[in-house]
Amino acid sequence: MSRLVCVSNRLPLGPNPAGGLVVALKSALTETGGLWVGYRGEVTETPSDSLIDLPGAPFERAAFDLTQEEFDGYYRGYANSELWPIFHGRADLCDIRPEHLETYRAVNARIARQLAPRLRRDDRIWVHDFHLLPLAQELRRLGVEAPIGLFLHIPFPDVHNLSALSNGAEVIDWLSRYDLVGLQADRDVLSFLDCAWQLGNLEDFGKGRLKVNGRHMRIASCPIGIDAEEFAAAARDAPREDRLRSLTGAELMIGVDRLDYSKGIPQRFRAFQELLEQHEDLHEKIAFLQIAPPTREAISAYQVIREETEHLAGRINGQFATINWTPIRYIHRPLPRDTLAGLYRQAAIGLVTPLADGMNLVAKEYVAAQDPEDPGVLILSRFAGAAEMMGEALIINPHDPCELALAMAEALHMPRTERRRRWERLMHVVQTQDVRWWSKRFLSALERQPIPA
Ligand code: ADP
Repeated sequence: MSRLVCVSNRLPLGPNPAGGLVVALKSALTETGGLWVGYRGEVTETPSDSLIDLPGAPFERAAFDLTQEEFDGYYRGYANSELWPIFHGRADLCDIRPEHLETYRAVNARIARQLAPRLRRDDRIWVHDFHLLPLAQELRRLGVEAPIGLFLHIPFPDVHNLSALSNGAEVIDWLSRYDLVGLQADRDVLSFLDCAWQLGNLEDFGKGRLKVNGRHMRIASCPIGIDAEEFAAAARDAPREDRLRSLTGAELMIGVDRLDYSKGIPQRFRAFQELLEQHEDLHEKIAFLQIAPPTREAISAYQVIREETEHLAGRINGQFATINWTPIRYIHRPLPRDTLAGLYRQAAIGLVTPLADGMNLVAKEYVAAQDPEDPGVLILSRFAGAAEMMGEALIINPHDPCELALAMAEALHMPRTERRRRWERLMHVVQTQDVRWWSKRFLSALERQPIPA
């Protein structure tokens, strides 16, 4: 079998590297003497001319450097202040600057120059996510002929949002250089086709075979999963947080998200407020634990969402708290994975309400963590990619506080037989479409070269 080469913005480092992704790829990487290329996470003043090998993993790892200026333009600028908001339908939060795009192109060209000499003719190259969209174009310019696939972990935008970038048509052209573009959900495939049709030159031959701007490629819906067995075991083995129940005497509702504006955290706080306003009988009977670690804090849109979240939590607690009961507990820190798994299991309701999300792994983790005898209820936004395969959750519109509050009340009162019926179907999906299924699906699609029509 040919060697697998993965390229991602961040290299898997540390004792438990990058969670599910590495678990999924580890056997492919170790069997074939694979290589993983990425950024080490520290800026340098003088970047090295070639990739730096990092020993200590069962596969090869090699890092590229970034200067502060490159980090600001490529990562913080174009990737996180332009592509991220645009691809999550928030063109209003986009900070478009020509120097971002210039640096993004230049960094991708440099990564390609450093990577090309390390590649073999029969490698399979798997590029991850929105930081590296032009990489295939740059590698092809350098004469690399091996198959190159891209998996986009975030949603694909509609044409109105993509057109809000200064270079929407160029994004389609970058993607047309891949042999395969894998997307999270069917709706993303439809958005891609629409954008390629409107901003590029698209010929669609069916079954995912396309010609875009004169180049043959494939497109596939390839939903990412989790390591369900491992997560279920972590939840089973986690010590029970007895303090949770004795302190509150209430049913627990949990939300776990990076504090990102795409996650709908203020919307869910407002829905909780609506619930408490409408149902006095639920006061002291339900407690909402929101765990939202900081992320991308140097970007102003993230400072705004933090202020809004903290303001709302304070206001709702001020309005409803009693001496014995704090309605919202908000933790602005990451927690260890095992602690999270245990908390999910103890929570009667898992609240996953993004305004836009490629997949949302928390939805799958919450399901995997449940006690099969007495499972909790997942409330899931219809705008998460996960909603395409997790229809047995309570599917809601996160923008509508009344609908979301109703779902919270329904979840609290749902009989155990119905909770079990829904959970069994959800768990079946989470277990069968797990992270290994996902990587096999992507890699086998990559091996099928597009057939010129
Ligand atoms: P995104 O990739 O946009 O952050 P996902 O829901 O797909 O969203 O993945 C988030 C991952 O980060 C999950 O595996 C989740 O368990 C983890 N995570 C989220 N919040 C925390 C936290 N407070 N502490 C530890 N891990 C967290």
